[in-house]
Amino acid sequence: MTEHLTSKEVALIDKEHVWHPYSSILNPIPAYHVVSAKGVRLTLADGTELIDGMSSWWSAIHGYNHPVLNEALSDQMNKVSHVMFGGIVHEPAALLCKKLTEITPRGLEKVFLSDSGSVSVEVALKMAIQFWSSQGRPEKSQFLSFKKGYHGDTFGAMSVCDPYTGMHTLFGNAITKQHFAESPACKFDSSWEDHFLSNVKLKLQQHNQTIAAVIIEPIMQGAGGLNFYSPTYLAELRELCDQFDVLLIADEIATGFGRTGKLFACEWSNITPDILCLGKALTGGYMTLAATLCTTKISDSICSADPGVFMHGPTYMGNPLACAVANASIKLLLESNWQADVLRIEAQLTKDLSPLTSCDFVKDVRCLGAVGVVEMTSKVDIGKIQKDFVADGVWIRPFDTRIYVMPPYIISTEDLTHLTSRIVKIVSKVF
Ligand code: PMP
Repeated sequence: MTEHLTSKEVALIDKEHVWHPYSSILNPIPAYHVVSAKGVRLTLADGTELIDGMSSWWSAIHGYNHPVLNEALSDQMNKVSHVMFGGIVHEPAALLCKKLTEITPRGLEKVFLSDSGSVSVEVALKMAIQFWSSQGRPEKSQFLSFKKGYHGDTFGAMSVCDPYTGMHTLFGNAITKQHFAESPACKFDSSWEDHFLSNVKLKLQQHNQTIAAVIIEPIMQGAGGLNFYSPTYLAELRELCDQFDVLLIADEIATGFGRTGKLFACEWSNITPDILCLGKALTGGYMTLAATLCTTKISDSICSADPGVFMHGPTYMGNPLACAVANASIKLLLESNWQADVLRIEAQLTKDLSPLTSCDFVKDVRCLGAVGVVEMTSKVDIGKIQKDFVADGVWIRPFDTRIYVMPPYIISTEDLTHLTSRIVKIVSKVF
C-alpha cells in the first residue's frame, strides 16, 4: 500500500530533506505542493487552481493528464516498462527513431537515445570528438559556443554554456576551456548585415584547427536570456562551419516540437545540422527522454575507426515507457492544428504584452511562437513575484530579469488572457 502524507507532512519533509533546482537548503523558498494537473491547470493541495504558463519548463505542450498519453503509457506498462538497450530493441524505440529521422531536417539518419537534455548534449560533444578522431584529427576536440548560450548542467554541457552567467567561475578548472563567440546580436526580424557574423568568423579563422564543432541553440537562446535571432545568422553559420571544416551541433532541446512556430527551429533557416539534440517536449512532458541525431557520414566514420563503436551507453537508454509516450505525443502533435495554435498564441502574446514596452522598468518585450518575454531593467525577486502570481491563479516562474510564459499549445484564448493580464498587472503595479 502506498503511504499517504498530509500536506503539512509533505511541506515538512520538503523543508528537511528535499533540495530543489538552483535553491538554498539554508534559506529555502517554500515549494508549492501540486496534487494533480489537467489540461493547463495545476491543482495545489489547498485546492487552489493555477493556469500554467511554463509547460513544466517547455515540455508539457499538450497540457497535463492527457488521455491519449496516459493510455500510451499504461498500454506499454503492461508489456514492458524497461529493458536494457544493449543487444535488445523494442517496438517503441524503433518507431520513435524512425519517426525522428522523418520529421527532423533531412539528412539526420541515426538516433542515439538518452535520459535528459544535458546528456544528449554530452553525447553530441562526444560524437563530434570521436568523429574527428576517426578522421585522423584528434586535435580537433574543442568547441566554439556562444555567450548567453545554455546547454545543460553536466560538465561537458556546462563547458559550452555562457562563461559568465554559466557556472565557469564556480567550478573553475574542473570545466574544460572552450571558445566563445559573441551572442547573435541581430534580432529575429532585423535585416541582414555581414558584420553580424564577424566575431564568430574570426574565432573560426583563429581556432578551426582545434575546433570539433560549433554548438548553438537555433533561433532562440533560451535559459541564457530568451533572445531570438535572425534565421539568416544560422544559415550563414552553417556555411561558415562547412568552410572551416567544423561540425554544427544544433541544440533544439528547448525549441524542438513547434515552440518557435516551426516544428524544429532549424527550419527557419532551412539548414541541416550535423548533429541535433532533442529533449523536453519529446515526451509531451511525461517522462525524461532525449535524443541525439547525426548524419550517416558521422556515424559511419566513428564506427569505422578504432574502437569501432560509439563510446556511450546509459542504463535507461531507450526506456520503453518514455519511447511509447514520445510516439504518442509526436502523433498527437502532428495530427493537431499546432501551427495555428502557436500562431494564435504568438499573436495574442504580442497584442497583450506589447503595451508593457512603455513601462519605466521594462527593457524589452518580445514574442516568437508560443514564447512571450518581458525583460525588466533589473533582477526580479522570484520568491515575492511567484507568491503574487500564485495568489492571482497563475504559474509563472521568472528568472533573472525575465518574466516569461511558454504555455501548453492547447491553452484557450481566455486562459491566455488570464496569464497575460496577471503579468501586465504585476509589472505595472509592483515595479
Ligand atoms: N539545452 C537547452 C537549450 C536547454 O534549454 C536545456 C534545459 N533547459 C538543456 C539543454 C538541458 O536539458 P535538461 O535539463 O533536460 O538536462
